[in-house]
Amino acid sequence: MIDAHVHTWTRNMIAESDLEARRIAAERAGVEPRLDSPIGALEAAMDDSGVERAVILPIDSGLNQDMPLSLIEKTDWHADEVSEKSKLITFVGLDPRRGEEGLRELERAITKKGCSGWKIYPPNGFYPDSDEFYPFYQLCVDLEVPVVVHTGFTSRFKHVKYAKPVYMDKVAADFPALKIVLAHVGTPWHEEAIMVASKNPNVSVDVSGWQHFAASATSRVYEMIAEAKLWKVFPNRMIFGSDYPLFEHAMPLKRWVHFFSNLRLPERLIAEGYRQVTDEEIEAVMWKNAARLYFGERE
Ligand SMILES: [Zn+2]
Repeated sequence: MIDAHVHTWTRNMIAESDLEARRIAAERAGVEPRLDSPIGALEAAMDDSGVERAVILPIDSGLNQDMPLSLIEKTDWHADEVSEKSKLITFVGLDPRRGEEGLRELERAITKKGCSGWKIYPPNGFYPDSDEFYPFYQLCVDLEVPVVVHTGFTSRFKHVKYAKPVYMDKVAADFPALKIVLAHVGTPWHEEAIMVASKNPNVSVDVSGWQHFAASATSRVYEMIAEAKLWKVFPNRMIFGSDYPLFEHAMPLKRWVHFFSNLRLPERLIAEGYRQVTDEEIEAVMWKNAARLYFGERE
């Protein structure tokens, strides 16, 4: 089992406004805010859930928030944290508006610090298909690493208008060799995310955050899977993930793994003409696709 979307941090390395956004989100959910996500807690949750490997996806909010660490310090923090851990890999989180300096850091992170790919977070204030960011995508092609893009719902002080999945379509078409993953299946724009993935064979989606629906409105998960299967995005371009620890209050990792590992579409959808999912297809989502895309394994 691979969890392809997790986060680690400590409260002294993120901005005060991010901490505040976490407090607001926690209050809404009626739980205690998660101000830290130590690696030890992640490893314990993985062991408890049967998750053998995980992919850490740091976010660079340094251009619009007062960050305690520089970009390089933050890359190094994540890279050093996983360097002795065979079960964990990390991406580099980097805002492409950083220009030349950002390009150099992307290359350093991948080639010198062992980062496995590039994570971008458009709700920080940019449309990801701007031509000025094309050198970043070209560098990912050259270095043969994937890019994971946040799409969909975001926190209180970020801007959701930048997070529509359709803004990755031009990039996907212009860089056919670039592997792109739309995080969260674009929640709530999953039909748009599935459409973008369906027309571009280099685009996948990760299901992190969907435990929110699995816990309270299960039919939405089934309908999303059925739709993704219809468009041939499921099973080979859908990837299991959790967004750990951000949805632990909705559904702990262990229950989310159990839910997805045993997923079957309800009879209602089969009666409507959707095709049932198989064990082999679920296995592809639970680890095979991520093993290929993030860990470079051939089948
Ligand atoms: Zn995330």
